[in-house]
Amino acid sequence: MRDFHEALAALDAQSLLRRRRVVSGPQGATLEVDGQQLLAFASNDYLGLASHPKLAEAAIDAIRRYGVGGASSHLISGHHETHERLEHALASFVGLPRALYFSTGYMANTGIIPALAGRGDAVFSDELNHACIIDGARLSRAALHVYPHGDLAVLDQLLAASASREKLIVSDAVFSMDGDLAPIAGLVELAERHDARLLLDDAHGFGVLGPDGQGTLAHLGVRSDRIVYMGTLGKAAGVAGAFVAGSADIIEWLVQRARTYVFTTASPPLLAATISASLDVIRDEAWRRDRLRSHARALRSGLSDVPWASKPSETAIQPLVVGDNAAVMALMEGLWRRGFWVPGIRPPTVPEGTARLRISLSAQHTPEQVTALVAALRAVSAEMQRKRAIA
Ligand SMILES: *Cc1c(COP(=O)(O)O)cnc(C)c1O
Repeated sequence: MRDFHEALAALDAQSLLRRRRVVSGPQGATLEVDGQQLLAFASNDYLGLASHPKLAEAAIDAIRRYGVGGASSHLISGHHETHERLEHALASFVGLPRALYFSTGYMANTGIIPALAGRGDAVFSDELNHACIIDGARLSRAALHVYPHGDLAVLDQLLAASASREKLIVSDAVFSMDGDLAPIAGLVELAERHDARLLLDDAHGFGVLGPDGQGTLAHLGVRSDRIVYMGTLGKAAGVAGAFVAGSADIIEWLVQRARTYVFTTASPPLLAATISASLDVIRDEAWRRDRLRSHARALRSGLSDVPWASKPSETAIQPLVVGDNAAVMALMEGLWRRGFWVPGIRPPTVPEGTARLRISLSAQHTPEQVTALVAALRAVSAEMQRKRAIA
């Protein structure tokens, strides 16, 4: 029998032990942790909607009308008019025929992929895809082909070599730990050439990219009936849940066959009503996207000469790749001492040897706060170099 005390000690020895911090008060640019105020660049609340008064009002209003519980699964008696309205609003927002709302993004991917591919089929997955895509692919029992990050040439070869009748390409649209975009036009072209379907997970593009926040497809101007589009609602949308959008037939198939949709209690109607309010704010408050873009520009120019590699990203996700696990934790702690919370991300969330600081920007940050982060990072960088010189 495995000794978990030893297993935990082994994680600790590799600087891989994770620790939860308890936050008090609302989510925002500053967070209270153990009575200390920290300036946080740590959340996926990219537009600052998690504590938006209009969303809070919508939630309170919905609680008064509908109470708090989801009560039953959607296919029994849990499918509420707030869910139905939200799905129509989501479909029209992203310009696709129909949408289906899931309780979480994790559940969406682990439900959608096995519903679209099964034994004897093939799934083609970018090596940097989110964990829930990998889990969905494993659950599907389809043959899993992992291609190097964004490598269309290798994907082309894998697709050509596959004898499966049903081929499903799956990719993050915006990669969650790198902030770069998938080569979507190229993926669509390969899907067409090899008669495959393309599932895009836009967890980090929805709300952030596109003229009205409709996501990465609108941002790039790509449309194709090969695409099944998935977005999450707990990040930029500020609430919780996820949706998938596509043709009416595919969505109806998912209603019938996505096990994480069929066999779970509907999420509370109050959340669906709040997300509908969030869609209006996403559309109406374009200044939030403008501000995010200007923060990204300021950060990148301020960090052009620190010793760590920044990655080209036009999104809210701005990683600084440090490499070593212990070094990234030292960097994180140096920032913490100065009152900044920027998470260090280690394996297995990112590949071995690519531990990084994941700076995530939000429209809630002020330009002064971004400037302060740049100054703190430069100070910690100088301090670490001094220590290394002495050692
Ligand atoms: C966060 C994330 C998910 C999971 O969504 P949740 O709603 O948090 O479960 C799925 N895919 C990607 C790319 C993500 O970053």
